[in-house]
Formats: sequence, C-alpha cells, structure tokens
Amino acid sequence: MQAVFDGHNDVLLRLWASARKGEDPLAEFRDGTTRGHIDAPRARAGGLAGGLCAIYIPSGDLILRQPDEKGHYQTPLAAPLERLPSLDIALDFAAIALRLHRAGIWRLCTSTAEIRAAIADGVFAAVLHMEGCEPIDEDLSALETFYAAGLRSLGPVWSRHNAFAHGVPFAYPMNPDTGPGLTESGIRLVKACNRLGILIDTAHMTEQGFWDVEKVSDQPLIASHSNVHALTPVARNLTDRQLDAIRAGKGLVGLNYATTMLRADGQENADTPLSDMIRHIDYLVERMGIDCVALGSDFDGATIPGSIRDAAGNQALVAALADAGYGQSELDKICRENWLRVLGQAWHEG
Ligand SMILES: [Zn+2]
Repeated sequence: MQAVFDGHNDVLLRLWASARKGEDPLAEFRDGTTRGHIDAPRARAGGLAGGLCAIYIPSGDLILRQPDEKGHYQTPLAAPLERLPSLDIALDFAAIALRLHRAGIWRLCTSTAEIRAAIADGVFAAVLHMEGCEPIDEDLSALETFYAAGLRSLGPVWSRHNAFAHGVPFAYPMNPDTGPGLTESGIRLVKACNRLGILIDTAHMTEQGFWDVEKVSDQPLIASHSNVHALTPVARNLTDRQLDAIRAGKGLVGLNYATTMLRADGQENADTPLSDMIRHIDYLVERMGIDCVALGSDFDGATIPGSIRDAAGNQALVAALADAGYGQSELDKICRENWLRVLGQAWHEG
C-alpha cells in the first residue's frame, strides 16, 4: 500500500467538537468512529500515514450560498474574530494534539526524521498547523508558545480578514484577486516563521497575499490544499501565474479533495468522479512538474468524492493515479516525498 502524507486535514476540529459534547476525543481517534473522515483505524486502512492537522477557529458552520440559475454563487466572507476567545479555542486544539501524542495514539512530529520514523512504526504522523492566525497577538508572543507546543506550519489567514492578512471568499466563478494581501503585522509574522522554521501556507489568501508571501518569505511557496483555477474557477484555486511562481521556487500544491474545488461547475456534490481529481493532478504536473505536486485532502473539512468517502478510501485515488499512468517514483513524490522535501526546507534541515 502506498503511504500517504497529506497536507491538510481538520480532524482536530472534529475531535474538539466531540470533546465539547463531553465525549473522549482520544478514544474517538484511537478506536474509530463513523463520524467524519479520519481516525486511526481508517487512516491505517487507507494508507494515510500522516498529515498536517489544523488548529482552526470556527466561524460557525460554513454554508455555501445557493447557486443562481447559472450555477454561480458568492458566499460572503465570515466576520473577523476576536483574539482572546480564539486563543482559548486554539489552546484546546493544541491540548488534544498533545494528549494524543502523550498517549501514543499519534505522534506529533517536528522533523522529517520523526515523520519517517512514525510512518515506519505505523503510528499516524501529525504535524501541527494553524489555519488562520486569529489566536496570535501582533507581538507574536503566542507564536513562540505554539512553536514550543509543536506548531510547525501556519496559514496567516482563513477565508476571513484578520490582523495579518486578507482571505478569499468561497465563490464561483471568481478570481482570487479579491483585495489586499499581508498587513505590516503579516509581514512580520512571515519573517518570524522563516526564522523559527515554521512552514508558511498561502491557501485561503488573496492573490495579493500570495505575491506578498513570495516577496517576503525565504521558503518555497506552498498552497497546502488548493487546486487549479483554469479547471474550477473558484476564488480558492490558483491561477496559472501563481502555479508558475510555485514552480519557479520549487514549492508545492496539495490537491484539495473538496468537490467545490474539483468540479468544473464548482458544486458541493459527493457524486463527483475520481477523473475530476486526476484532471487537476495532470494539469498541476504539466504546469509545474512532478516535484511540485502533492495531496492536501481537506479530510474532515469538506465534502469529498463519494468513491473515496473517508481516509479508508484514500487508496482509490492512488489506484486512479496509477491507472492514469503515474509510475511508482511519481506516486512516491505526489503521495509523500514532495511534502517531506518542503517541510525539511522550511524547518531548516540540512
Ligand atoms: Zn482550508
């Protein structure tokens, strides 16, 4: 079975929600559940060896606007969040990640050697990511603290505005050039991440924010869970110019399994064929080369194709890629090695 290390999931959001209902998130991950997409048994069954696990401050349930008669929709941006309540939630997410680690249920990794060792041991290799930095103060004190707790990747912004950057809305069709990019604080955040060794993720940023990161950051450009705008023109997807810039810096795009970002019509519909995923992968490979293409499922964060269904079905995509002509060394890169390469670079590994 092909071991997959995946660039984005929201399993901590689901476990946090379970904890708030008084349930045991550790048992849920360890023993499995029918909820959502990822737990240890399903990850094992689907060869999902690890991934970037997001601390994400919810804006309530994301409900896309109903499409009009042309199939177009424009969901307004979520309202900005206050910092202290966001910090409170982020601490709870981090605590769940740390408890899973201490209990040996998953392994919180801060080096690629640790990721490889966890994969070899058959333990889920989790990397702590923050998707939207509302919990972090503009003096970046909380950044230091979360780094000490294992944070090794962050996206300055989700699809709402904050002190660091501006986010893109969920809209079809729409260009990602929807407003300003990084703020002054955002520039300082990116530089601090470069210094500390925290990967910067441009997913959910405006196109201007993407170019600001390109200018300020000394890391390869990363879009952890985004697809091709030329195939699915939602604001969350990447234009050809962006793909060319990612290629130039030997960065990476992780394929998002969200049907809204895969289908030509941008609709949320689990009845979406795997061929739509292959179409995006083929385009990314053709435009950027095999070294810049990876996976970023958005498991537990999106409606995904029914033929994958959850982490246990992850090998269906691997099989479809093999059927489409990808050989073993190409599959290794897409499924795992490209992520390990850019993480190692961002983490200052030799
Ligand atoms: Zn996301």
